[in-house]
Amino acid sequence: MAAPTDVLTPGGSGGETSGDADGLAIRTLPPTDVYSALDTSPRGLTTEAADTRLRRFGSNELPRAAHPAMWRQLAAQFTDLFAVVLLVASAITALAYTLQEPRDPGTLQLAVAILAVVVLNASIGFAQEYSAERTAESLQAMVPHTCRVLRDAVLRELPARELVRGDVVILEAGDAVSADCRLVEAHDITVNNAAITGESDAVGRGHEPDQQGPVLEARNCLFMGTDVVAGTAKAVVFATGRSTEFGRIFQLTAAAPRQKTPLQHQVASMARRVAGAALAVGSLLFAVRLPAGQDLVSAFVFALGVMVALVPEGLPATLSVSLAIGVRRMARRHALVKQLLAVEALGSTTVVCTDKTGTLTQAEMTVVQVWAGGVMHTVSGVGYEPAGEVTDPEPVRAALRAAALCSNARLVPPSDGGRWHVLGDTTEGALLVAAAKAGLDRAAEEAAAPRVGEHPFDSVRKLMSTVHSGDHGYHACVKGAPQELLERCTAIDRQGEVIALTDALRAEVMTVNDELATQGLRVLAAARRELSGPHPDRDTVESGLTFLGLVGMLDPPRPEVREAVAACHRAGIRVVMVTGDHPLTAEAVARRVGIVRHSAPTVVTGARLNELDDDALDGLLAGQGDLLLCRVSPEHKMRVVTAFQRRLEVVAVTGDGANDAPALKHADIGVAMGASGTDVAREAAVMVLLDDSFASIATAVRLGRSVYQNIRKFLVYVFSSNIGELGPIIAATFAGFPLVPISAVQILAIDLGSDVLPALALGAERPEDDVMDRPPRSRHERLFSAAVMGRILFLGGIQALCGCAVFFWHVNGSGIPFSHFTEDNAVYREAITLVQAGIVISQFFIALTLRTERESVFRAGLLSNPWLLAAGGIGLVWMSGISYWPLLQNVFNTAPIAVTDWAVLAVLGVLPLAADEARKWSLRRRHSSRTVEQGGKR
Ligand code: ATP
Repeated sequence: MAAPTDVLTPGGSGGETSGDADGLAIRTLPPTDVYSALDTSPRGLTTEAADTRLRRFGSNELPRAAHPAMWRQLAAQFTDLFAVVLLVASAITALAYTLQEPRDPGTLQLAVAILAVVVLNASIGFAQEYSAERTAESLQAMVPHTCRVLRDAVLRELPARELVRGDVVILEAGDAVSADCRLVEAHDITVNNAAITGESDAVGRGHEPDQQGPVLEARNCLFMGTDVVAGTAKAVVFATGRSTEFGRIFQLTAAAPRQKTPLQHQVASMARRVAGAALAVGSLLFAVRLPAGQDLVSAFVFALGVMVALVPEGLPATLSVSLAIGVRRMARRHALVKQLLAVEALGSTTVVCTDKTGTLTQAEMTVVQVWAGGVMHTVSGVGYEPAGEVTDPEPVRAALRAAALCSNARLVPPSDGGRWHVLGDTTEGALLVAAAKAGLDRAAEEAAAPRVGEHPFDSVRKLMSTVHSGDHGYHACVKGAPQELLERCTAIDRQGEVIALTDALRAEVMTVNDELATQGLRVLAAARRELSGPHPDRDTVESGLTFLGLVGMLDPPRPEVREAVAACHRAGIRVVMVTGDHPLTAEAVARRVGIVRHSAPTVVTGARLNELDDDALDGLLAGQGDLLLCRVSPEHKMRVVTAFQRRLEVVAVTGDGANDAPALKHADIGVAMGASGTDVAREAAVMVLLDDSFASIATAVRLGRSVYQNIRKFLVYVFSSNIGELGPIIAATFAGFPLVPISAVQILAIDLGSDVLPALALGAERPEDDVMDRPPRSRHERLFSAAVMGRILFLGGIQALCGCAVFFWHVNGSGIPFSHFTEDNAVYREAITLVQAGIVISQFFIALTLRTERESVFRAGLLSNPWLLAAGGIGLVWMSGISYWPLLQNVFNTAPIAVTDWAVLAVLGVLPLAADEARKWSLRRRHSSRTVEQGGKR
């Protein structure tokens, strides 16, 4: 074996070895030689050796996807549609300035102002994208990525980045393969190599030596980036990080292109339409003003300025900020959203299909009852600490011995004052604890009956079996769902005596099973059989069995779930439990957490689902009663998700197993578990719950709804101010006033100086109290609904009227005829200053009232969004500067505002708020009288 060992010596710097050479050499060795070739042992590396290798060869990480250079990202901001339009406008204005005779400094100011708009917008856009990228990265880093490794002969769970060459890893269905490794033991293992070969069909793998063919096709190697679809395996790492095939093949230079969500598309297309409208308005004003005696260049510059001012340039950036804030808030509440798209879909979720174990319950299993030899035995103690007793342990030992031998989990004693916990499947952990309480020593049992074969658990068969050798030949231990196991039994152990399993005895077992399940217990059965050899096929192992007993385990509901389920119900969201567990167990748990509220829920099993065609299934889902889907496999889950979607429901579905991936991908929101789920499920989902709890889904829906609401709020805010600005201009044009009541530069000062920050603050508004008391928004509802348009016109209209009133009140009050007004006239300068200040003040009050849709803002607390108050304050300071500071007075052609005028403006500014509060009040009144009426009818 000298030659391969030479090839396998790590070479180069930073852990760079030729993965190809490793793969070729290592694949030819028999499993027993793999250990020595990689300088390790079946007991794994020692911690010391692993640390040395980690220091020497680096961590098991790939270089981050390179970001495009900063300057490129910044430059990209100047090439989007709005920026280009504005740059052209600025250039034309500057050109107009050079053609003017005499030259008007105002034209040059406008050109500069438009340029400033572009620069400011580009900076905001750049900053937002940059921070959104960092957020996405940090969220990605929060998704747990661990692996199970033997170190110092003990199975541990370690961060995947700490893997080194020579590590012995244990893999099972749903695990992502974290490094290139050679199989030394394999049980029915199949992998999905799509990430490296593009071929998405699962392929079988084994541990026997292999000779020919390309390294990626080696039948005894698993590669980083691929996933284990089924089975279990033990493998030795031979390449990590950049030396892996994945690291070598993929030039991870370009980040995946960021896709726009439908919402972003809607806003972008709306912004474009508004730009078109602005163009039309500008052209109209140009056409009206030219015959009214203005010279061509000034009429053109004016129209251009108005158009630019009306374009909602900042909208797309504000939208991204709002979505990003939503994503960050969700992350703080344990819900990691991997795509912005999910934030939107969450807000319109109508159905949540949820798992039971871990999501509704604590996944803290404790065996409380064991039925063996025809007698029920009680087990004391709680959690995974093997402390407690079994009443009369002797008769239950055979069942618990078989269950313990047929388990891959490991109990981990507490460290630093913590609690006992389980590495691996919690159901199996509970069985190990019960076995210990019955006085069984697992290590001794395993030594007496070493495992020589395994057929791993899968949720379709609902069984797991292992083969063991012993003093008297070979035998199999099998555990699984009682009904499935009982079908494969021909005998039963009654107080140590094996007798034939008659129909009456079968019925007795199923009655006991139902009794346990009705108490909400998860029930498993255990069986065994003698075998003639070490490698019989699975059907042989799992047939002709002797039934040993039933084990009932308690998994208490999570305390926070009941309230979360109730919140979903109030919000018009249907909660459907989808579980592999027994119908009675499922119903008991569903009642405890409030999913079942009525006496008779609809309970449908996987077997029944198989009998239903699509129409029948659609009919079943159409009923609005409480629905439980039990004894289902991941394929059923996928079918149910698709059926709900046919009914135009927006479906969120949870999943933790490898086979859940298709349903997670297909659902509108696939939700995976961060703590207990598999890597494959986490990859397929768009949302990962760090705490696995259903309550986090409800919270995410609430936040998703509020993000959508906030977006509408700032849309109303931005567009109503446009109407407020445009109204006086149009009025003046048609009233024959020769000048504008507010100049283009002033409008830009509003859009940039006083509008951007409040819009951002509205985007960050906290969810309204009643956000979960309304039905879900229809998936076809447009962002600019009739209600939104109505509110824009309502608030913008009031603002426009106030602007006209202020302007004409001031110019009329001077007694000067309209035709005598010039740009330099002091009254005119005061009047346009008043219009600008009036808009700034009323925008502040509009922002306040927009904080709530139906609730009075006074109830919500006027001061509860400090960002908005600060943004309003900054706007006022900016406006005061424009009014009183000579430098800015020159730029904007403004004049100082008298104190009494401020008072008038304040009164007018409050008007939109007062009117909107009155509108909300009547809305609430109508709503409550409708509720009373409905209550009366019932
Ligand atoms: P839940 O909704 O409670 O999470 P599930 O969908 O995860 O349930 P499965 O894990 O598919 O359900 O389990 C289905 C049944 O298979 C269980 O009710 C139990 O009887 C049996 N079972 C579960 N885990 C194991 C295991 N490790 N070995 C053998 N049988 C098991």
